[in-house]
Parts: sequence; structure tokens; C-alpha cells
Amino acid sequence: MQLIDLEAQQARIRAQLEKRIHKVLDHGTYIMGPEITELEGCLSDFAGVDHAVACASGTDALLMALMALGVGPGHAVFTTPFTFIATAEVIALIGATPVFVDVDPETFNMDALQLSKAIEALAAADNTIYPLPEAGKRGSLAPKGIIAVDLFGLPVDYTAIRDIARKNGLFLIGDSAQSLGAEYKGKKAIAFSHIACTSFFPAKPLGGYGDGGMCFTGDEELARSIRSIRVHGKGAHKYDNTRIGINGRMDTLQAAILLAKFEVFPEEIELRQAAADRYTRLLSDIRTIKTPTVPEGCKSAWAQYSILAGNNQQRNALQRALKAMDIPTAVYYPLPLHLQRAFAYLCYPKTAFPVSESLSERIFSLPMHPYLTRDQQMSIAAGLLENDGGTAG
Ligand SMILES: *Cc1c(COP(=O)(O)O)cnc(C)c1O
Repeated sequence: MQLIDLEAQQARIRAQLEKRIHKVLDHGTYIMGPEITELEGCLSDFAGVDHAVACASGTDALLMALMALGVGPGHAVFTTPFTFIATAEVIALIGATPVFVDVDPETFNMDALQLSKAIEALAAADNTIYPLPEAGKRGSLAPKGIIAVDLFGLPVDYTAIRDIARKNGLFLIGDSAQSLGAEYKGKKAIAFSHIACTSFFPAKPLGGYGDGGMCFTGDEELARSIRSIRVHGKGAHKYDNTRIGINGRMDTLQAAILLAKFEVFPEEIELRQAAADRYTRLLSDIRTIKTPTVPEGCKSAWAQYSILAGNNQQRNALQRALKAMDIPTAVYYPLPLHLQRAFAYLCYPKTAFPVSESLSERIFSLPMHPYLTRDQQMSIAAGLLENDGGTAG
């Protein structure tokens, strides 16, 4: 069994993939070929967002979003420590400072109440109100924006987070790397931030055969900036450079592959939902684990189906038991970002973000993809049930 079975999908769409790839080989426009515009059009329609800008990775999408919003040294950007490193890395990369906000224990997404406290603490440069990074304690950071992550494909509480952003004059970037296809109150989750960023890394819900990403925005000016930043800050033409940018283009071949995959993507989102529902039913009687919470009005893209054990030993024992049955599992994420060596300079102590710390000790993800069968899920559930309570306490 595999955590994510990309072969089952390929067997289904192989002919379409080959047709798309051959078309690129025939026209030979490997950089910014017609497939890039076609993919941007498909996904902007799908998302219900006016502008979609394809780029080289989800990390570049986040980086370009921050650049377009004018973030730099002396700025604070609020985000969570329970995410992939890229979310906070890009903030540091452009010279700004990540200010961490703990997550909600039910959804694993940014906790709106904690966000308000962190904003208040930063304004007062008082870390008795909320844990702050070193520069924040000195009062040398200006709050600029928020990067909220739709973790495992579940949309953030956009109503609450957007409200806080608006009241405090902050931008909101959605890190939707894991949530393409997710919905919030009947609309696509990527439609709720100033700029939403997604990733086409192979393991994401819409994964290519290599790296890729995309920015979505309803703001024409921001879209224009991102398009310029994507190609070295170009102005009217290639050798007119109006700002500092990057080489952030997506390859034409990658866009061709994604176009073939996009044809089955809406159906795959439904298949993921069905697999998630089956898991939740099959696992409902297992005392030692907690299945994912999906708040009213949210539809997850189910990038991962992540469950919680009661404690660290129990989690590790369950993973071992499944491994012995040839069932792979994974831990996202074993160490919250404030405890990573890369962010030691922020000087956050252990226990600063107790929810993230506790989750990282207890969480693990089960195999999840559109082609997971009922039989596979039944054997996974049986493996968990067999070990239920064995190491509890
Ligand atoms: C995958 C991921 C990214 C980065 O995307 P890449 O395409 O790998 O650069 C950023 N944030 C989150 C939450 C992710 O899961």
C-alpha cells in the first residue's frame, strides 16, 4: 500500500498526458508556452477568482505574494508554527519576521482568538500578553499581514481571520498549498484572501510531475505585480526591469501535465471526500484515536487524513503496528516551526505554543488519495482497532 498512489491516477489518464506532452514537443515553446495561459484560465474559472498566475513552486507563489505586497525588513507577518517550513521561510527570506500564532486544537488551523492576542502583544511590545519573537519584544516590528494555512486541505476560519485582518489593516495571504478544491461557505477557499497560493508538488491534491505553484487574486494591480515579479521584475518588455523580481516561471511541460490532470481533478476531490467519509465511519469506534473535525460550512480537499492518538507513545505504537502490516503512515509535522533550528534566532521558548507542540507528538496521517479502496481502508481500520487501547494511558 502507498500513502499517495500516483500510479493509479496515471493509468487512468496516461493517453491524455502523452497527448499533452507531445503537443509541447511539437510546438517547442518550453518557456511560457500557450499551456501556461490555458492552465491559468482553467484554474481561475475553477476557483472563481479573476487572476491566476502560474509559477515554479508553492514556495515561489508565497514569496511572490509577499514581494507584491511590499513586505520587507522591519515587518511582522503572523502565521502558525504547525505547518510546512515554506510558509514561514518565505517571510524570513525577504527579511521580515514571522510572528507565530498557535492553532486551534480541533481544526489545526490558525486560532482567531490567539491571533488577536498576538496582534495586541506586538502593538504593546509585551510578551506577557502573547509569546513574541525577540525583535517583537523590542518593539521594532511593524505588523503587515497574515499568512493563514488551510492545513491538510481544511479551510481556515476565513470569516473570523478576515475580520481581524480588516480591523487591523493587515493583508491576508492564504497558504492553500494543500487545499486546492476545498470550499468555504459554498465558494472555493482560495477566493477568501488578498492572494491565495497553491502548490502542484506531486503529493498535493492537484499534483504535477515536478514542482509548480500558483497565485490567485481578485486584485488586478496585485496580479500585474506578481506577473512582473515572476519574470525578473519585467516592465514593458524582457529587458525593461521595473522592480526586483525572481525567475519564478512554471515550465510549459509542467502546465501541459497539469492540464491533463485537471480534467479528472473535480471528480478526484469527490473521491477524496468519499474516502474521508469512509475512514471517519470505519474509525468511529476506536477509542484511542480522534478523527478530523470539519466545521459547518467547510469542505476539505483532504490532502491528508490526519488522526490524533492520545499521546506520543500511543501514536508511535500505532504507526509501528500499521507498518508491520505494510501500511505506510506519515507525521505532519514532527516539530513545530518555533522549535526548528532555522528559527532559533526568534528565541521562542518550548511551551510557547502548547497546541502545536501537543499535536506534533500525537498526530499521524493515513494513506489518502482518490483511488483508495474500501478494502484497503478496512484493513487500515482493522490494524488500528487491533491495537486500540494496547498502549493507552
Ligand atoms: C507544500 C507546501 C508549501 C510549498 O509548496 P512547494 O510547491 O513544495 O514549494 C507551502 N506551504 C504548505 C502548507 C505546503 O504544504
